[in-house]
Amino acid sequence: MSTFQDLGLNEDLLKGITDLGFETPSEVQEKAIPILLNEDTDLVALAQTGTGKTAAFGFPMLQKIDIDSRTTQGLILSPTRELCLQIANEMKAYGKYCKGLNVVAIYGGSSITDQAREVKRGAQIIVATPGRMKDMISRRLVDITKIQYSVLDEADEMLNMGFKEDITEILSGTPEDKNTWLFSATMPKEVATIARKFMKSPQEITVGHKNESTDNVSHEYYLVNARDRYQALKRLADANPRYLFGDFLSYQTRYTKGCRKLN
Ligand code: AMP
Repeated sequence: MSTFQDLGLNEDLLKGITDLGFETPSEVQEKAIPILLNEDTDLVALAQTGTGKTAAFGFPMLQKIDIDSRTTQGLILSPTRELCLQIANEMKAYGKYCKGLNVVAIYGGSSITDQAREVKRGAQIIVATPGRMKDMISRRLVDITKIQYSVLDEADEMLNMGFKEDITEILSGTPEDKNTWLFSATMPKEVATIARKFMKSPQEITVGHKNESTDNVSHEYYLVNARDRYQALKRLADANPRYLFGDFLSYQTRYTKGCRKLN
């Protein structure tokens, strides 16, 4: 079994990893990190949430960008605000010892002016939801013309949520010669189409089996009448106080259609 050091990560990242308490690389990290560090290539990775995929693209991106520059070089697109914040926080933790690193999260439902101010200070990496990102690009509040690495995280979810046009528009404003790394739990036709359209001979890795969920996450479901769904969610939240609020909101937005507000 390899170590993080074997994968070729630099001292600053290794120190961050020690602080986080990660001992050995997960399967997706072991497969993706050496490829992304050593080659300028596009990549399609089939991996579920909980497999450590954020670090699989996060470590190479942190190591490859020029931290002395204030230009935006890395763009990570993710489907929800919660995931966007989670990725941004993970990236900050991974890059704790990368001096001068500035990771900014851009998502809807929060002040666009504040987010624009943060970007203006010089964000080497932006983690964004597609809708708000497109909005900021059209208002010229972000510059995506120098992006070298773009990540489509949970690509299948982003397409399910109707972000295809936004993603297409965003990516078409980025340089042709950048690398794109696509992570998805499943590979439906729509994801394959995006991969064909925006990627050049991507390398492919699969973690676990296609369309199967990770061992680290257990799945449970409850059948309830549609009108009882808020109450059911509330009970689940009460019974599982260790759920992060973000996770809970994300369950709410993904799995209870039309559910806007928990009373
Ligand atoms: P992700 O699949 O990126 O959402 O990661 C799931 C969780 O596993 C996150 O809380 C990470 O901080 C954690 N994690 C990622 N890589 C490792 C590792 N190699 N060892 C232990 N925990 C990890």
